[in-house]
Amino acid sequence: MKAHDALYIDGAWRPAEGGATLEDTNPADGTPLGAVPAGGPADIDAAVRAARAALPQWSPTAPAERARLLFRLRDILQERGEETAALVTAELGSPLTLSRKVHTAVPVLVCGSYAELAGSFAFEEERGNSRVLRAPVGVVGAITPWNYPLHQIVAKAAPALAAGCTMVLKPAEDTPLVAQLFAEAVDEAGVPAGVFNLVTGLGPVAGQALAEHDGIDLLSFTGSTAVGRKVAALAAGGVKRVALELGGKSANVILPGADLNRAVRTGVANVMSNSGQTCSAWTRMLVDADRYDEAVALAAESAAKYEPGDPGEESTRMGPLVNAKQYERVTGYIRRGQEEGARLVTGGAERPAGRDRGHYVRPTVFADVTPQMTIAQEEIFGPVLSVMRYEDTEEALRIANGTVYGLAGAVWSEDRDEAVAFARRMDTGQVDINGGRFNPMAPFGGWKQSGVGRELGEYGLEEYLQTKSLQL
Ligand code: NAD
Repeated sequence: MKAHDALYIDGAWRPAEGGATLEDTNPADGTPLGAVPAGGPADIDAAVRAARAALPQWSPTAPAERARLLFRLRDILQERGEETAALVTAELGSPLTLSRKVHTAVPVLVCGSYAELAGSFAFEEERGNSRVLRAPVGVVGAITPWNYPLHQIVAKAAPALAAGCTMVLKPAEDTPLVAQLFAEAVDEAGVPAGVFNLVTGLGPVAGQALAEHDGIDLLSFTGSTAVGRKVAALAAGGVKRVALELGGKSANVILPGADLNRAVRTGVANVMSNSGQTCSAWTRMLVDADRYDEAVALAAESAAKYEPGDPGEESTRMGPLVNAKQYERVTGYIRRGQEEGARLVTGGAERPAGRDRGHYVRPTVFADVTPQMTIAQEEIFGPVLSVMRYEDTEEALRIANGTVYGLAGAVWSEDRDEAVAFARRMDTGQVDINGGRFNPMAPFGGWKQSGVGRELGEYGLEEYLQTKSLQL
């Protein structure tokens, strides 16, 4: 796909005010992929006005009609799957197989789930002498990150459209082409003009203008906790609803007696996938003292297999990080871990052999990580695993709950009831038991500083609805 030199506003591609552009580059080798407009406050204003103007026609459409459009959108995304996968690989650097299986397939699944929900959800119900209506919240401002670029967009746009909202999307600077592909798909699906608008641009410029715009009713943000805090403060000025999907530092708790081999290998795969750029990654592996050394050896052996390579090759399991800033950040954390006394068992901050171009980082495992260390507390967002030791399950729980985050986690045990009992006590939004499968209908979102609100399934839809009760 060629980069559009325009923004998608009110059903048409139109130039941005001022003509500034953003360069999109391939993180594997620095080759340019195209320039997209860097929208500013005037563009955001035009897009919000278009979304506001479209609302009176769009919000009363029959849910069945919204379902039909979402099914059409789902089909187009599926038809353009191979192109999407190639684009995600080029912009993000994720291995082609992951781009197909996750970056492309999951958004198709999620879009389909909202098409179905739009048709089956109870937008009205009777409660005693009241009729409760679930009305669209109005105009949505959506700000998304680059790590799962299409999924993050679809996880907001699909429920927003299913609910009858209109929206303006400001996608991440690093992955604008996937966002443009999505806008093309929305257009082709026949979604009416003004219902979905796309303004590419810089976070502190276009993103900020959207977060503080008086014309939006809900700000839905996914990204770092630091920026989430900022945009929530901006949105508070207009008493707007805010949904925040933020960072994480999730614990993978391997209880005594669990299948160690499976738990460690699955845990390592979970961290190394997408080069560790996953908000819900299980970056802290907790193992009982008796089996600690065995787990460290297994983790090191397993991680070393994620040799960084060209993401365009079918056999590559791990590509580069998305940009130079992330490279500096992640290698900085690796050095910090060593300085604070953690034991590096594989990987490290040096470039992988034979990769002198691109933002490649070696798959890294630290042992002897204690809860106070920086690498045990802060989100690294790279292929770095901390293996931590616990003496008893109460200590495991204290460590697991001992960060400001609470997004995801995992528990492993031969006794499922024991694992579920442990998971109930974890302060986190999602827990996978013995490697439980991804469920697109289960609510996803954070406790504590990992966020406010939920995405996916009915819980995600409700974020975009507000109630009105009629007493009859
Ligand atoms: P980021 O916070 O830097 O950027 C996210 C988005 O916010 C981008 O579109 C960016 O342009 C925009 N932005 C930046 N500054 C802004 C400002 N001042 N005002 C308005 N918008 C602004 O995050 P990132 O580096 O793109 O993504 C990585 C982070 O996202 C990680 O911390 C990760 O954990 C988090 N994340 C969370 C989830 C989740 O569901 N909880 C999912 C994916 C990523």
